Amino acid sequence: MKKHTYDLIIIGAGAAGLMAAAEASHLGLDVLVLEGQREPGLKILISGGGRCNVTNARLGEKDYSAGCPHILRHVLKTFTPAQAVDFFERWGAPLALQETGEFFSADDKARTVRDALVRAALESGAHMTYNWRVNALALQDAAFNVIGQEHIECARAVLVTTGGLSYPATGSDGAGYVLAGMFGHKIVPTRPALTPFLAPDSIFSNLAGIVVPVRLSLWAEGRKLRSLEGPLLFTHNGFSGPAPMEMSGHWSVVKAKPGCGISADFMPQMKGDGIEFLLAPTSLKRSVKNIVSQFLPERLAIALIESAGLDPRLFLGEMSQKEKKALAGMLRGCVLPIQEAMGYDKAEVTAGGVDLNELKGATLESRLQENLYFAGEVVDVDGRIGGFNLHWAWASAMAAARAIAKKVKA
Ligand SMILES: Cc1cc2nc3c(=O)[nH]c(=O)nc-3n(C[C@H](O)[C@H](O)[C@H](O)COP(=O)(O)OP(=O)(O)OC[C@H]3O[C@@H](n4cnc5c(N)ncnc54)[C@H](O)[C@@H]3O)c2cc1C
Repeated sequence: MKKHTYDLIIIGAGAAGLMAAAEASHLGLDVLVLEGQREPGLKILISGGGRCNVTNARLGEKDYSAGCPHILRHVLKTFTPAQAVDFFERWGAPLALQETGEFFSADDKARTVRDALVRAALESGAHMTYNWRVNALALQDAAFNVIGQEHIECARAVLVTTGGLSYPATGSDGAGYVLAGMFGHKIVPTRPALTPFLAPDSIFSNLAGIVVPVRLSLWAEGRKLRSLEGPLLFTHNGFSGPAPMEMSGHWSVVKAKPGCGISADFMPQMKGDGIEFLLAPTSLKRSVKNIVSQFLPERLAIALIESAGLDPRLFLGEMSQKEKKALAGMLRGCVLPIQEAMGYDKAEVTAGGVDLNELKGATLESRLQENLYFAGEVVDVDGRIGGFNLHWAWASAMAAARAIAKKVKA
């Protein structure tokens, strides 16, 4: 008996795969989704600390690093943050806007977002199969054979949404790069991005749980390469939170260069790079600990003052110029004792991936194999923290699904 040929097989039911399944089915395609895990969207469930930062009202090209900016631009126009908000509202997952521009699940539950996507895909008519890991793709009579451990399925078009290499426990283990390689695709070298830093046994080790706003600067060969501001979270073995995680990808590119390091300004809201603001005449008869603790959590203030070689009980008025300089250095440009950035198992995203230059414009169809498409984290696009990576998954899935529907139905 001749096997059924689907219009489209989507490999991977993560953020991109589920969104593409919903849209392609809604546009009338006969869609099968093959997911290697026991359930769909495992990574969505852990996103945003379990609250899922779905998108960002202030999103733009500047929030991404991509091998081909013009594809990025076109894809982002396909599906805007406002359209994402409408989509999730329509499928039962209203989003709440934060002051930062980030949209989270209104009930603070990532599961609501995941379930809305699954509902959208199923109610639009997509077929979903779990525990079905794709091992290979082969062409036969202008259709694809999608090959698993025990079964083969057929489709006129294939969309690869297998994710990258980060958090492999959620199912993304780099399989998409292997499938792309079968058709000659180049993979831009991958690296973990948005990871915490390891810094065991430092002066900061007993500050776990404290969060402060910082400005981080990346240095190498005596030059400041990059600065960014955001919250820093002290952990029991290093630094996490948006600012360190965002810096980690840049750090890993230059870490082998002489003098590579990251400094933290713990008072980013203050002008200049010194401590003049601490030295008001009224402060001179107060202890340095007392004054610095006005601006920073006391335990952090003490750790920084002691690291500057000072006694926290010292009066500000008693400090020498040298001591003031040492304190300013510690508060405004403390070199973080970084040992390493954590790997893929703690990286929120994978940088690198399927080379965008080998995909056709905003359709994301392969230039090397007709009817083969890629979307989501598997391609060479990674975003900042703030809902940008999920938005890339939604927008690229929409772009590919619409292009496939147009072509298959033509
Ligand atoms: C802890 C954490 C928190 C995050 N928080 C946020 C956030 O709040 N906001 C944000 O924007 N981004 C966040 N991200 C990033 C974001 O979740 C990802 O960029 C996004 O989920 C990628 O979607 P994707 O569909 O491309 O890949 P994935 O979500 O990784 O999905 C890939 C799917 O493909 C399946 N698969 C893989 N290989 C095969 C195969 N051979 N056969 C069949 N199935 C296969 C996998 O099992 C998986 O279900 C977070 C990431 C992590 C790890």
